[in-house]
Amino acid sequence: MTTTRTPATSGPGVARTPGELRSALAGAGRLALVPTMGALHEGHRSLMRLARAEADTVVVSVFVNPLQFGPGEDLDRYPRDLPGDVRQCAEEGVDVVFAPDTATMYPREQMITVDAGTMGERLEGASRPGHFTGVLTVVAKLFHLVRPDLAVFGEKDAQQIALVRRMTADLNLPVRIVGAPLLRDPDGLAASSRNAYLSARERESALALPRALSAGRAAADRGPDAVRAAARAVLDGAARAIPPIALDYLALVDTATFDEVGADHTGQACLAVAARVGSTRLIDNVTVRLAAADIGGTPEGDSS
Ligand code: AMP
Repeated sequence: MTTTRTPATSGPGVARTPGELRSALAGAGRLALVPTMGALHEGHRSLMRLARAEADTVVVSVFVNPLQFGPGEDLDRYPRDLPGDVRQCAEEGVDVVFAPDTATMYPREQMITVDAGTMGERLEGASRPGHFTGVLTVVAKLFHLVRPDLAVFGEKDAQQIALVRRMTADLNLPVRIVGAPLLRDPDGLAASSRNAYLSARERESALALPRALSAGRAAADRGPDAVRAAARAVLDGAARAIPPIALDYLALVDTATFDEVGADHTGQACLAVAARVGSTRLIDNVTVRLAAADIGGTPEGDSS
């Protein structure tokens, strides 16, 4: 047991095992968890700030979860920088960084997993079979290890947060899920650990993603088909750029169920895109408010 809670001024305690975590969290009070895979950036930091504002103690988990990567994906080359992550957590007043290794999280074959259901088979789940089972399983394990009162997830991964909300509801998990708005870099690209893979020219091409989403949203008063067509026109152009964008999916879906919305849908929907630039796969989304709906107030999860 080597880890103790340290005052925010001297940085967070780093717990590597469940035992270290438990002693670091003794007397923690109201507890917030921010689950991450590390290589932290401004997007993650915005989640930490939300957590800091809502809790006495903030835990950031840093774990590159093998269960959510498919064969041939970027598990081995995923960026890892624990010292840099701990420094950023210190700057955000995080109390504890939980950074277990794979053998600690998965000491044996993970026989029992969380089935993500049909919502987990669409969009990201269709492109990455088994991905959301891996995500929900590690999130459930982290909830049990940390026992947070609330957990903060980014709207950047819109389908993921919808599934985490559904899991906590369906399994009666006593954790409040807080959504953090999608944070963009100054050029408009959604902040992502995977942006580090992009060359300058690839990044230039990748900007077609936020441009397509903006074009889609600008067509919102003409209905769902117009939204899809406007976004697709931008992506079609980007498919001919150098380097080109290879579109994986573009979809306009219900924000809670991730079902594709029909041509007469009104109110809020999520316009989501995934594409490959070179060997890098990127995702992005915006919330769209479709014509003439009186939905009242500012909906949660606006990722404008
Ligand atoms: P990751 O490390 O990619 O697994 O992300 C950890 C958490 O940070 C997830 O809840 C993500 O949705 C969130 N996140 C990542 N990038 C962003 C961003 N650009 N804006 C808001 N949240 C983000």
